[in-house]
Amino acid sequence: MIQNTAQHRLILIGPQGSGKGTQGELLQVYLQIPTISTGQLCRTEIEKGTELGKSFEREMRAGDLVPDQVIIGMLKKRIAEYDATEGFIIDGFPRTVAQAEDSMLWLAPTKVIVFDLSDKIAVARMSSRRACNQCRFKTTAEYTAAHGDICPRCQGKIVQREDDQPEVIKRRLETYHAVTQPVIDFYQSHDLVERFNASLSIPLIFMEIAHVL
Ligand code: AMP
Repeated sequence: MIQNTAQHRLILIGPQGSGKGTQGELLQVYLQIPTISTGQLCRTEIEKGTELGKSFEREMRAGDLVPDQVIIGMLKKRIAEYDATEGFIIDGFPRTVAQAEDSMLWLAPTKVIVFDLSDKIAVARMSSRRACNQCRFKTTAEYTAAHGDICPRCQGKIVQREDDQPEVIKRRLETYHAVTQPVIDFYQSHDLVERFNASLSIPLIFMEIAHVL
């Protein structure tokens, strides 16, 4: 296995609703490297109806983690693509210490960016988030209440993600604390962690992250 040597190999870790997806999009433009979301890789497989997608559809709908080796296989394939040769920003991986250990060489993170957020704020943000089912334009329940559910960008339909329903949100946060926290401890022991207060505004958090890169 050859060690990855791309310049920026960033990992974003934070509870759902901590804005790591948004910061990933900003960093992608700033650094000109792709943001890769393992949740999105999973959703794409399911949408395409592949055998791989079918194998983890049940876990995903329940808010449980997809098996480590399945996620690792998908991510290895994705970071080997041409657009990731200069670097990448990973959102949603690793979620277990086994994933973190496995990927120390082939992912070889240069920094692990951790977003700290209370459960209360995370639940409120997740309950409110909506996105277009075509172009993935992100918006809120307040927006659809005021303007309806037609996407202003592409005329697609704005929907709530199936795993953003209250019961599933609770389960995903429980999973986050139980399983992902040890991952942060793992990276801390390798001195790779930079922590940010995710309750601050989007531009402020972005500036703080850019400052440490
Ligand atoms: P996310 O969009 O990051 O919240 O991920 C949505 C779902 O995809 C999760 O609830 C898991 O079912 C699955 N998933 C994404 N990333 C991982 C991972 N690193 N390990 C296991 N399951 C994952």
